[in-house]
Amino acid sequence: MGHRWFCRTDEDFETFATEGEAIACADRALAAMREVACLDGWLEETSKICWGEIRAVATECDVEETCREQGCDSSNCGKMHFPQFDHTCDYQLMAPDAGE
Ligand SMILES: [Zn+2]
Repeated sequence: MGHRWFCRTDEDFETFATEGEAIACADRALAAMREVACLDGWLEETSKICWGEIRAVATECDVEETCREQGCDSSNCGKMHFPQFDHTCDYQLMAPDAGE
């Protein structure tokens, strides 16, 4: 992820590096709806079309390696023990450019 601008159409959510691309995406979606409207009237989904700036994204953080040592007694290695994961982590809402 990392893209700051988004466009939501009737069926899709896309992100873009620039405001201009997000606006163009919304314009295209609206133009497509307008074509449909000439035949069947405006679809209710038309009002879902929007574009904007993403302020925060759920972003992986606090990545910690887990212990993969066979037979570790886990008392003093200082790591988490989840045999099914090679690491643990959390997610926090962060500005979209924070990780780049
Ligand atoms: Zn261990």
